[in-house]
Amino acid sequence: RILVRGLSKFFASRAVLEDVSLSVEPGETLVVLGPSGAGKSTLLRCVAGLSPFDAGEVQVNSWVLRPGAQGLSAGAALRQRVGFIFQDFGLFPHKRAWENVALAPRLVRKLEAETAREQALELLAKVGLAARAEAYPHQLSGGEKQRVAIARALAMAPAALLGDEITSSLDPELKWEVVETLLRLKGEGLTLLLVTHEVGLARQVADRVLLLVEGKVVEEGPTQTLLSRPRTPRGQQFLSRLL
Ligand code: ATP
Ligand code: MG
Repeated sequence: RILVRGLSKFFASRAVLEDVSLSVEPGETLVVLGPSGAGKSTLLRCVAGLSPFDAGEVQVNSWVLRPGAQGLSAGAALRQRVGFIFQDFGLFPHKRAWENVALAPRLVRKLEAETAREQALELLAKVGLAARAEAYPHQLSGGEKQRVAIARALAMAPAALLGDEITSSLDPELKWEVVETLLRLKGEGLTLLLVTHEVGLARQVADRVLLLVEGKVVEEGPTQTLLSRPRTPRGQQFLSRLL
């Protein structure tokens, strides 16, 4: 379960997140939608324990993060238990797909080489990539790389999976591959927090949507309701400008 209460963050004296609160229940998928510069990536990095913040609190299961450096060191434990998927995949180019997936379990959880390889192959099968396990990242399509990144995030048995624009750089058919993978993981009860400017992704996978504009929560609600009948002028404006 993810809880964010009254989170604020400043760069210099400019607030990029202002009093943001949200929750993601176990097994739920929340998509944070918002225009470029809204603070989506910053918010996700704070939740993952990757960036410090100035006020408020982040709670993931029993881990609690608070402002300041001390809060960030508490983030070290948290970082191992949330899976983070970056927009640019972040795969190691000189390692095969399965080696990318097996790396953290080997180094952090000290799994035996053979056990880590078997687990990596299972996870790649789960994201539909059993046949591509030996490939290097440059031999994979964008959608395949993104699915390797998902398998890698799953390898640490995360409490939740956080994804930053995980479909934005992909062609339409490749987006669909990733969406199908997410829907399958959702079906298995995974807790997902995704940020994106793509309304299509929210429509496909979100149980609830939260609209973030200029660092503030504008509105929040069940996917259908929010996307078809936004209540606030700012929400209406954001959604009416999209196709
Ligand atoms: P996009 O959709 O383009 O990815 P975003 O919603 O993810 O945008 P962020 O990357 O979170 O937005 O950035 C929010 C705001 O914070 C932007 O105005 C950005 O310029 C600013 N910002 C982000 N990182 C820094 C930094 N390290 N120093 C100063 N300002 C920053
Ligand atoms: Mg971003």
